Amino acid sequence: MDTKDLGFDSKLIHSGQIDDQFGSATVPIYQTSTFRFRDADHGAACFSGDSDGYIYTRLNNPTIDALERLAASLENGYRGIACSSGMGAVNTIYSGVLKQGDHMISTDAVYGPSRVVMEKHYSKYGIESSYVDTSNPDNIIKEIRPQTRMIYIETPANPTMSLTDLKAVAEIAGERGIITVADNTFCSPYLQKPLDFGFDIVFHSVTKFMNGHADIVGGVIVVKQRKLDSILRPMMINLGCNMDPHQAYMVIRGLKTLSVRMEKAQQNAIKVARFLEVHPKVAWVKYPGLESHPQYELARSQMDGPGAMISFEMKGGLNAGKNLMNKVSLPLLAVSLGGVESLIQHPASMTHSKVDKSSREESGITDGLVRFSVGIENPEDIITDLERAMENV
Ligand SMILES: *Cc1c(COP(=O)(O)O)cnc(C)c1O
Repeated sequence: MDTKDLGFDSKLIHSGQIDDQFGSATVPIYQTSTFRFRDADHGAACFSGDSDGYIYTRLNNPTIDALERLAASLENGYRGIACSSGMGAVNTIYSGVLKQGDHMISTDAVYGPSRVVMEKHYSKYGIESSYVDTSNPDNIIKEIRPQTRMIYIETPANPTMSLTDLKAVAEIAGERGIITVADNTFCSPYLQKPLDFGFDIVFHSVTKFMNGHADIVGGVIVVKQRKLDSILRPMMINLGCNMDPHQAYMVIRGLKTLSVRMEKAQQNAIKVARFLEVHPKVAWVKYPGLESHPQYELARSQMDGPGAMISFEMKGGLNAGKNLMNKVSLPLLAVSLGGVESLIQHPASMTHSKVDKSSREESGITDGLVRFSVGIENPEDIITDLERAMENV
């Protein structure tokens, strides 16, 4: 079945997912490391590319293929490349696109490890990087050098929830032949499709909203053009950060309900954000669905909804933030995000406790900042629990 013209929800159920052999309703898990060739000619044809037969699971596998086609169909791209983790995707992109002497511009509040690996490891190979507040595209233009090869952004950024204008960045880069990359983990393609705005590469930590059930780690890249597939796919294969067939099956299964999960989580998030916004113990709330978000209009123009991630600042700083973590009982006190269960986290005492206070605050991580990934529980239960916890802070 050609799924090209189907709506998004139908694509989730049908795209890429065909098993012609036995008529299985779901994609079978081809839990094998290697594939038998019919004869020597078939083996030779698989290796030369004259046959699209399977060879070895690090290179290709029907279950993983199904996820890659599905992801491409959801992001309106040429092809997906499944990776062992979100960081596997990040490293495939960095290693595939950048070479010695190149320069990259990125969002300052980007996912921590994507910055750490660039500044600590890729710098050893002579790759330079600049981290700027990409919510103002002029900050990107100021950093562009003749060696700038890649602009790598995350929108909304984590945990500041500031947005980057996808169309503006794609135009700035396009005029100059610079490759654009978007980390779309916070939105999933249900809410945002960076390739539609002119980006070259989009990727996800599918650990989060895409799989959505907090039970696997994985990543997927989707490229706009065949040319980029021919650069990134061999890099993924040679780095060895391929996905496993079982992992791919779990993600395909999780994706079936992406629309209903995102819709429910987002409806809950709007209610939680409005509750927090007027709470006397909360200094501010950052959520793209609130009129108070400085980029509320941009959110409406490039996202199909405000999502399920909220940041808020507790009055009373570090202690109040930590205190709240001990008082809530419904959300799990855990890192990660995008699962069916609500998760709460206090960056200053947890994920960012090793970063000194001034650098932390430079990237918007204040002492009382709390990050909330809103799940699909009953919204009244989430709010009642927060209300009770706040009373005791
Ligand atoms: C979790 C995350 C990653 C890294 O993904 P892993 O699956 O943990 O390797 C990258 N970007 C964002 C925005 C994330 O939240």
